[in-house]
Amino acid sequence: MNRVAVVTGGTRGIGEAISLKLQEKGRHVIANYGGNDAAAKAFSERTGIAVQKWDVGDHKSCIDACAAIEAQYGQIDIMVNNAGITRDATMMKMTFEQWDEVIRVDLTGCFNMAKAVFAGMRERKWGRIVNIGSVNGQGGQIGQVNYAAAKSGIHGFTKSLAAEGARYGVTANAIAPGYIGTEMLSTIPENVMEKIIAQIPVGRLGQPEEIARGVEFLTSDNAGFITGSTLSINGGQHMY
Ligand code: NDP
Repeated sequence: MNRVAVVTGGTRGIGEAISLKLQEKGRHVIANYGGNDAAAKAFSERTGIAVQKWDVGDHKSCIDACAAIEAQYGQIDIMVNNAGITRDATMMKMTFEQWDEVIRVDLTGCFNMAKAVFAGMRERKWGRIVNIGSVNGQGGQIGQVNYAAAKSGIHGFTKSLAAEGARYGVTANAIAPGYIGTEMLSTIPENVMEKIIAQIPVGRLGQPEEIARGVEFLTSDNAGFITGSTLSINGGQHMY
């Protein structure tokens, strides 16, 4: 079945790999992005995947965008909440704006997008929602009280949503990636990165494709009995 999938932040990094993997598996993919028009255009030309710009932190934009996608493609079956940002600073230096922006995009963005599609999924008795958390939402990290709070919040959000969707065939799961080689890591100094890699038992960064494979599985028909779970894909960095 040609399911329709929306991937937020789906034009770069981990999101790009997710969009490509879902396309490869026959999904009809719409990749959202937030501001980098050049990257989105290049991605769309390279892959043939439709791209649409809106801010996942803006509730009305999410509702309007999903309504337009449903009008064009019929429905949205799969929602991958991948868009995320960092605004790192230690607690001593973090501003309210840095706190608020990360909570707005990384956590409220998941609510906004799930809110836009949940009713339709329930009605059709089939839906897959995957929210991208983080190892740092599980274990915390210096300089990331905002990001860790948002990502930790995703895990509670996912479990509650899973409980509400279960009897309607709508699953909600989270993936908690460890450190993955994307532009998001470009602000981390090289000496800090060396220390991070030294703490990863498999001895390397993860690849975006390794997260995409997890998303593909959790959004497939085969994963209908998996809901409310968090899949950690982190090279053994953090184990519960
Ligand atoms: P990137 O910075 O490479 O890409 C982020 C994507 O999110 C871009 O497509 C960007 O759009 C989009 N985006 C950012 N803000 C918004 C917004 N307000 N509205 C819509 N789209 C937005 O990130 P990664 O690929 O590294 O990360 C993807 C996800 O994985 C994030 O949620 C991140 O927190 C999480 N993660 C990443 C890890 C890593 O090591 N890389 C580790 C753990 C979790 P645009 O191109 O327009 O800027």
